[in-house]
Amino acid sequence: MEKIECLIIGSGPAGYTAAIYAARADMKPVLYQGMQPGGQLTTTNEVENFPGYPDGITGPAMMVELEAQAKRFDSDIRFGFINKVDFSGDLHKCWTEDGHEIHAETVIISTGASAKYLGLESEQKYLSNGGGVSACAVCDGFFYRGQEVVIVGAGDSACEEAHYLSKLCAKVTMLVRKEEFRASKIMSDRVKKVHNIEILFSTETLEVLGDGDVVTGVRAINTATKEEKTIPCTGFFVAIGHQPNTDIFKDYLHLDETGYIKYEEPGTSKTNVPGVFVAGDAADKTYRQAITAAGTGCMAALDAERYLAAKH
Ligand code: NDP
Repeated sequence: MEKIECLIIGSGPAGYTAAIYAARADMKPVLYQGMQPGGQLTTTNEVENFPGYPDGITGPAMMVELEAQAKRFDSDIRFGFINKVDFSGDLHKCWTEDGHEIHAETVIISTGASAKYLGLESEQKYLSNGGGVSACAVCDGFFYRGQEVVIVGAGDSACEEAHYLSKLCAKVTMLVRKEEFRASKIMSDRVKKVHNIEILFSTETLEVLGDGDVVTGVRAINTATKEEKTIPCTGFFVAIGHQPNTDIFKDYLHLDETGYIKYEEPGTSKTNVPGVFVAGDAADKTYRQAITAAGTGCMAALDAERYLAAKH
C-alpha cells in the first residue's frame, strides 16, 4: 500500500496541467495515464487553437510536451490505469489494474470522455490515418474551409457543429437517422434556416468513401425509401454524443443523467466528496476543448492544495 498526497487519474491536458500545478506546489503528485496516454488529443491531427503555438502543433506532439513539462517538476507519471476506487473514508483508496493499492489525501479525476463513433470499418480507417474523419468540428473544421462536408447526428451537438461548419464550408450535409431531430427546437430551427446546410432525414451512413488516403464521399441510405446515394465530401464529422469515462466513480460521486461528474460548488472543481476534484471532459459536456480542460486542471490542483493546507 502506498500513501500519497495527490493522485491524478488521466493524462489529457486536464491531468497534465493538474500535475504541473500540484508538483510545483510540492504535493508530489502521482499521475496514472490511463488506457489512452495523452487522451483524446492523440487522435487529433493539427491543434491550431491552443494558445502559445502560433504555428500549430499535432495533438500527439502537444501531449508529449505537456508530459515533459509535468515531469520537469518531478510529477510521478505512471503507465497504467485505476480501475477501482473507494471514496467512503477520509483517505481515498484507489487500485490499479494490477491490484496496487494507493491511499490518497486528494484525488483529481481527469479521465475525460470518449467520442462515440458509428463503428464502420471505413470510418475507423480514415479516422486513424487522419484522412478526413473527425468527432470535433471546432478542432478540425478549419481544415475544410471552402469544401463540402458531411456530419452525422441529430442532437444539440450535431446542430451546433453543423452550424459552426456552415460558416467555414461550402456545403454541409447533415445525416439524421430518424425522421426528426433529437436536438432542442431552438437548435434544430437554427440549422434549418442556414442556406448551405442540407438535412437528410431517415438517412444512415453505409460507408465512408475514399481513395485510400483521404475521404472523398459518403455512401448513405434513406431507410424509408431504401434509396442509396453517394454524397461527395472531403470531411466526415461524427457528432453522435460522448461517453464520459466515469463509471468507476458512480457509487461515490454525484453524476448527471448522462454520466458526467457534477460540480458540487459551481466555479470550483469540487465534487460531493471532500478531497476529490474533477477537471476536464469528465465533467464538461459543453466546451470540451484542450484549453478549457487545461484550465480546469489548474483549478483542481489549486483546490486540492487549499484542501490540504486547511487539513494539515
Ligand atoms: P445526444 O445524446 O443528445 O444526441 C446524440 C445524437 O446522435 C442523437 O440524435 C442520436 O440519434 C444520434 N446517434 C446516436 N447514434 C447514432 C448512430 N449510430 N447513427 C446515427 N445517429 C446516431 O448527444 P449530444 O452530444 O448532441 O448532446 C449531449 C448533451 O449535451 C445533451 O444533453 C445536449 O442537450 C447537450 N448539449 C447542449 C448544447 C447547447 O445547449 N448549446 C450543445 C451541445 C450539447 P437519435 O435521435 O436517432 O437517437
